[in-house]
Amino acid sequence: ALGLGEWAYDRGEFVSATARRLPLSTQALHYGTGAFEGIRAYRSDSGLFLFRAREHYERLLRACQVLRIIAVPSAVEELIDITVELLRRNGHEGDTYVRPLAHKLSLLPNTPPGVSLAGVSDGLSITTFGFPSGGTVQGTRCAVSSWRRPPRDTLPAQAKIAGGYVTSALACDEARAAGFDDAILLDHTGNVAEASTANVFAVLDGRIVTPPDTGDLLPGITRDTLITLCRESGTEVVERVLSPAELFTADEIFLSSTGKGVVSVTSLSGRDIGSGAIGPVTTRVAALYDSATRSTAGAHPEWLTPVVTD
Ligand code: PMP
Repeated sequence: ALGLGEWAYDRGEFVSATARRLPLSTQALHYGTGAFEGIRAYRSDSGLFLFRAREHYERLLRACQVLRIIAVPSAVEELIDITVELLRRNGHEGDTYVRPLAHKLSLLPNTPPGVSLAGVSDGLSITTFGFPSGGTVQGTRCAVSSWRRPPRDTLPAQAKIAGGYVTSALACDEARAAGFDDAILLDHTGNVAEASTANVFAVLDGRIVTPPDTGDLLPGITRDTLITLCRESGTEVVERVLSPAELFTADEIFLSSTGKGVVSVTSLSGRDIGSGAIGPVTTRVAALYDSATRSTAGAHPEWLTPVVTD
């Protein structure tokens, strides 16, 4: 099934994805006090498999802890089981995007809205979206954003906190309005942090470099996957501070995210990166990622949860 799945999971039950309504008093709507995940199920050689669902739900539960959201259920295994059941109910057999959303729900009745997290009820929903499999990875044109990634003492970076995505939205919008595809954000010290919804890698002097996970960027699960796969295949990845000036001298730049996988950045703020075409290192890294997500014969069967097996 393509598009929004007919069924959703919400507060303990499977419900119609379009009929469900949230009260106007939902705190997450007022203050961004929610956290979400983006998980993918991939059509592989022998069925449909969730990729690294465990790590995604662990990250969601960490965000719930930060926001004092009591996730129901609160066990990773149970959340994965519900996700598998939801995907089956929705009849997804091809590539699917899964969107769990934990949120602060009801403010106290008959009182003006407040920002306190304590005493506010919680919700947890999951929706699914089927999309066509395959398609070649196109080069993307990025701009360095005038918006900065909020520092770790302003916004916890270890999870996908809803309110934090205002910065991503502003950066993405600024880039799109200027004719680019996406934005690369710097951190508060002026070094490269991440793209609006992806991590950043550069190829410098033949070596793959990515900014370190020191609390000022989202520790992406795709980022971790690529670092792991590269190192296992004998390719060095250096986690170090990366200046924006270095990006302009890179042979290649690529982005990593669950939603889009490995995406080549072929130009930055209007300048070609390297040859201006998808480079050999990016192509190799994308192939490594493809085989990990689409083959059950890969080095990490523990990353795959079967949904439908042929
Ligand atoms: N940074 C941000 C801000 C993101 O929203 C995402 C997408 N989740 C990423 C990085 C990449 O993370 P992941 O590989 O876990 O999808």
